[in-house]
Amino acid sequence: MILVQDQLMDQSELHIGMEDRGYQFGDGIYEVIRIYKGHFFGIEEHLTRLERSAKELQMSLPYSIDLLKQRLIELAEVNSIHDGQVYLQITRGVAERTHHFPDNQKSMLVGYTKEAPRPLQKLRNGISVITTEDIRWLRCDIKSLNLLGNVLSKQKAKDAGCDEAILIREGTVTEGSSSNVFIVKDGVVKTHPANNFILNGITRNVLLHLAHEAGVEVVENTFDQSELMNADEVFISSTTMEITPVVSINDKTVSNGLPGAITQLLQAKFEQQIEKIQAV
Ligand code: PLP
Repeated sequence: MILVQDQLMDQSELHIGMEDRGYQFGDGIYEVIRIYKGHFFGIEEHLTRLERSAKELQMSLPYSIDLLKQRLIELAEVNSIHDGQVYLQITRGVAERTHHFPDNQKSMLVGYTKEAPRPLQKLRNGISVITTEDIRWLRCDIKSLNLLGNVLSKQKAKDAGCDEAILIREGTVTEGSSSNVFIVKDGVVKTHPANNFILNGITRNVLLHLAHEAGVEVVENTFDQSELMNADEVFISSTTMEITPVVSINDKTVSNGLPGAITQLLQAKFEQQIEKIQAV
């Protein structure tokens, strides 16, 4: 079953209009929310961010956050998702094709689930990444469907046999193509401040909180490519990748090529959050 507007239905019943603005302009927003042991992780935070993205794009959400939450829970339940995720997107809907907003907006909401195991091997061994120029627009804080800059960067990483592309804007490390980026130097964690140049990740915020609790110093400051290359530890965070160590950048080994101590500490704290979730 999938969620269409506020109803659960069979996928075969879904019809997307040819002139849906999501399809033609990428005019819409989305969220990816993790499900562990049948329970959503951070659903409130994701829906709050969805609300913010809508506001920033002057879109009104078609349903209340409470109703959306209820429907997503029903969707995950009806599909018996154990470890997986839900993808939710809302577009500005169908209207005669013209760039400006249509006078009568009828948003289109679609949500679907999939089973997705945790990326245990990558969490344990780390990943290789490349760096590439951040060619995206200046509102990366909005989780919009417009992802071509991210798509092209991720493809570059894939072509290089890597898992992620770390984006550099005018010398400054912003984030990954689908993740936030952190470095550790002399025991201090550093990550780009949450402004218009990055998506303020839900996992990023969980992680900052856990670091604070663990007494690990974190600074939300910009850093450049040479700091990245000379860091003691590097890791990325996202809903699907959790806290993943980076062990190689542009074929150069980070530290000794193994996940660092602070990365592992934060991973363990994150793991505890997952363990707290009751199995169903
Ligand atoms: N930055 C970008 C560009 C992303 O696409 C994502 C997630 O997809 C993130 C950061 C991490 O955000 P979250 O932790 O909310 O998944």
